Amino acid sequence: PEHPPEHHCIFCAIVAGRAPAHIVLENDLVAAFLDINPVTPGHVLIVPKRHAASLADLTFIENASVFQAGKDIASALRSSGLQCEGINYFVADGAAAFQEVFHFHLHVFPRYRGDSFRI
Ligand code: 5GP
Ligand code: ZN
Repeated sequence: PEHPPEHHCIFCAIVAGRAPAHIVLENDLVAAFLDINPVTPGHVLIVPKRHAASLADLTFIENASVFQAGKDIASALRSSGLQCEGINYFVADGAAAFQEVFHFHLHVFPRYRGDSFRI
């Protein structure tokens, strides 16, 4: 994905390798990396490589690839040593919904009975 230099998007920078991130999955269409401020340990963000602000802007194949990656990461989390009891899949769409980075991302994070996360 090519962007003009004036296009400042932290997730585009991560996808392009211009900003650091712990990448956990990457293919032609999507990248997934650890959230810098995890709500629980193992919190992953999955993004389309092409800049798109919201779910409505994704193509059919980007949408499928993002959610397939979500399933694959959930499977990896369940078989990791984290021993999670559940998983949240979460999308903030729009500032009023607490979207802070306007490059679409699917949050995937493990849950534990009694953990402190509340929407
Ligand atoms: P939103 O509220 O837009 O759904 O969530 C944005 C998420 O991106 C937050 O969970 C935040 O911690 C994460 N985030 C923001 N900046 C960075 C960054 O530079 N690197 C990484 N890995 N995560 C980030
Ligand atoms: Zn972007």
